[in-house]
Amino acid sequence: MTTSHTISPVTRARLERPFQSLIDGRWVDASDGGAIDVINPGDGSLLTRVAAGTAADVDQAVAAARAAFDSGIWSDMLPSERAKLLWRVGELIDTNAQELAELETLDNGKPVTFARYGDVPTASNHFRYWAGWCTKITGRTEAIDQPGEWFASVWREPVGVAGLITPWNYPLAMAAVKLGPALAAGCTTILKPAEQSPLTAIRLGELIQEAGFPDGVVNIVTGHGHITGAALASHQDVDKISFTGSTEVGKILLDAARGNLKRLSLELGGKSPTIILEDADITAAAAGAALAIFTNSGQMCAAGSRLFVARPIFDKFLAALSEHALAQRIGNGLDPTTTLGPVISDVQHKRVLGYIEQGRKAGATVLTGGESIGEKGYFVQPTVISGVTSEMTVYREEIFGPVVVAMPFDDIEEVIQMANDTNYGLAVNIWTNDNSRAHRLARRIRVGVVWINSFGVTGPNLPFGGFKESGWGREGGIDGIEAFTEVKSIINKLI
Ligand code: NAD
Repeated sequence: MTTSHTISPVTRARLERPFQSLIDGRWVDASDGGAIDVINPGDGSLLTRVAAGTAADVDQAVAAARAAFDSGIWSDMLPSERAKLLWRVGELIDTNAQELAELETLDNGKPVTFARYGDVPTASNHFRYWAGWCTKITGRTEAIDQPGEWFASVWREPVGVAGLITPWNYPLAMAAVKLGPALAAGCTTILKPAEQSPLTAIRLGELIQEAGFPDGVVNIVTGHGHITGAALASHQDVDKISFTGSTEVGKILLDAARGNLKRLSLELGGKSPTIILEDADITAAAAGAALAIFTNSGQMCAAGSRLFVARPIFDKFLAALSEHALAQRIGNGLDPTTTLGPVISDVQHKRVLGYIEQGRKAGATVLTGGESIGEKGYFVQPTVISGVTSEMTVYREEIFGPVVVAMPFDDIEEVIQMANDTNYGLAVNIWTNDNSRAHRLARRIRVGVVWINSFGVTGPNLPFGGFKESGWGREGGIDGIEAFTEVKSIINKLI
């Protein structure tokens, strides 16, 4: 295991300052003084504590966002001025990249190199991309099929106060993915980061203030999902919830939204297939399949957690994939040579190991890995499982860890059926040298995102989201910004 633990003086100094909630431009503790321990998954130590936001704190944050929205201080600001502020946040993220990356690694466990060159630039690029949209939200005109002279126009207006609830796997990037389009559309916001990894969202709040945002436009309330998140999701004065997290909580949010029929965008779980056709370049495909399940310790909604390989190359392919598993440098994310960090928490560690054990008991074969590793922290060996059947829990349920189940297939129709045999529908990655075949396959699999001879490449301009129980709506591009707008038709008879 890798062991180096160095952090910069700037990050150390930030950890010594309090981590509070941002409500109406002020940093505050929870109204009842409650706090949550933030644990470093790399060694299980206490990093710091954050405010455990109460329903009263959520009320205050929503009131601030509502007042900011109704005053027009944000939605009526010149679009070019809003764009400048969003752009400035992107710049400040880049200026503070090393600190943000180190905080992300301490808080989430992911390799610092990935945080520094993946998560952090993803966040800054999102702010810059969404800055561009401020000046590009347009409507249209329509003809009226009535006698007389008419001017009918269709407008896109901000949906209002938006609650943004994010998960722990890409904390900073997810905050940017949601704040960017919400703010570009003219909404005011309350961000509720995951309780396991709230630090970079709080640091982002400081940068947003430094950029010069008016008070109340961006509020950040840290806290538990079932308290702070639930209060936000059921709040009568919140117009929209944009949520990324588990399908289970996504379904709870449907009930929470009932009271005022607030709008919902849901980016949920997955059990996405990686498909290797017989003609694939095995070396490239094995590297891709490894990337699809071991990156971020498999804690990705789009992880390629079911691997389907053409039968003639099945054994050879699994041997190549196992080599990638064995080559991972597992350890503390702060070590720049680490490629696979811990999973997020003790709970997740037990959950992932529990799934592997269930698989073993059901008769599956653990080809590689399958064990906890290290004395401290929440490490799981990268794991390849074969001999599974489609009834097994390990095959059906989202594990959210570095664990892939592999199955051979005999023909294209069979693999299409296997790929679609799931309640989820987020993504697929297909490996083949026959692009026409790949495209035909892509159209037959019921998912929101298809990668061909690649995995995980996204961009702020590309719609991302799922079919079936992987969610409602899309983030990214025009679909992403429209999700933070309402449509208004104005029909004017000229007199
Ligand atoms: P989670 O659903 O437990 O939590 C996500 C967020 O919801 C957290 O901020 C949490 O505090 C909050 N929350 C929990 N209970 C709540 C409630 N009752 N009301 C309101 N908010 C509540 O998920 P997680 O464990 O943090 O993240 C892992 C899951 O997220 C996985 O299932 C994964 O597939 C999914 N995910 C999906 C995407 C995507 O884009 N589709 C991206 C990342 C993660």
